[in-house]
Amino acid sequence: MEPESIAAAALPSVLRLAALQERTARLWKRRREALQALGFKSYDAYQESEHWAEIRERVFRRDHQRCRFCGAAATQVHHDRYDSETLSGASLRRLLSVCGPCHQLGSLDADGNAREPAAATRYMREINPPKWFRRRLSRAEILRLEDLRLALGEGEARRAFWQEVIAEEPRPKKPAKRKRPTRKSAGKKEQAAECERQLLDLENRRKRTPGGVLNRRAKSKARKAARAKRARR
Ligand SMILES: [Zn+2]
Repeated sequence: MEPESIAAAALPSVLRLAALQERTARLWKRRREALQALGFKSYDAYQESEHWAEIRERVFRRDHQRCRFCGAAATQVHHDRYDSETLSGASLRRLLSVCGPCHQLGSLDADGNAREPAAATRYMREINPPKWFRRRLSRAEILRLEDLRLALGEGEARRAFWQEVIAEEPRPKKPAKRKRPTRKSAGKKEQAAECERQLLDLENRRKRTPGGVLNRRAKSKARKAARAKRARR
């Protein structure tokens, strides 16, 4: 490759990195402001506070102390967002129990740069298998996923990756659901007619017998009246 074209190829990624850095800088600024509004000097101070310990406990309890991505025992809580609603504990929606390995993989990219919180959530989802897939990804598979991400971008990589894995490990088949015989599936007019007739018959009988809803109500009324009469004597 010519030096110029190398530079041209590198340009978009340089721009991307600059944009990312700007975004994260803005993000930390917003977090600092939200924390100051809550009376915390720094994020470290926040993390050491009783306030955070209590929120953390609530999140663990909600998630049964399980990693939301791989199901291992959770030891940390991941912030999907640092808005004041989340930081104040008013909402737990953006807080997820995670295990150390998932959090580590999610928080830092291959170059050791911090990912944005929401990107980290996406990544942890990506590297962890769908529910039906019963094992964790191997190191080689995670690297393969990383390659695909670089080549194809986020969403496409995930699709391609799981297609690859699924092709090798076919998804276990669910047992077929037993179909309930419906009037349609019976397909026979006589059967439908028979069903209709039986329903009508049942309805008529209910009207005639002194056990229908209305009659039952009247009976209970009479019983109550009789009881009251007995009580008065
Ligand atoms: Zn995990």
